[in-house]
Amino acid sequence: MINIPQNCPECGQMYRKADATIVSENKNNFLFHLTCDKCQVSTLMHVQIGARGILSVVKITDAGKKDIDKLRGNKSVSTDDVIEAYLALKELN
Ligand SMILES: [Zn+2]
Repeated sequence: MINIPQNCPECGQMYRKADATIVSENKNNFLFHLTCDKCQVSTLMHVQIGARGILSVVKITDAGKKDIDKLRGNKSVSTDDVIEAYLALKELN
């Protein structure tokens, strides 16, 4: 698992690896769901590993860890939702 050099966008608390769940994983693309230990705000983090380094985009989400677990357990729903999350993150770029 790659390192997560991120702080909570809400309160600034540094994320720990234990706060992160991998939603999807490709060769150079990772989508993590993180829940802040301090303020409990959930975020989606899209990490892209490119030739010029690691690019990460963070977006606050309403989806809790339970929702993500559900998503991951249900492949047919998961694909659409992951794509939607990707697109939402892309807009921030
Ligand atoms: Zn926080």
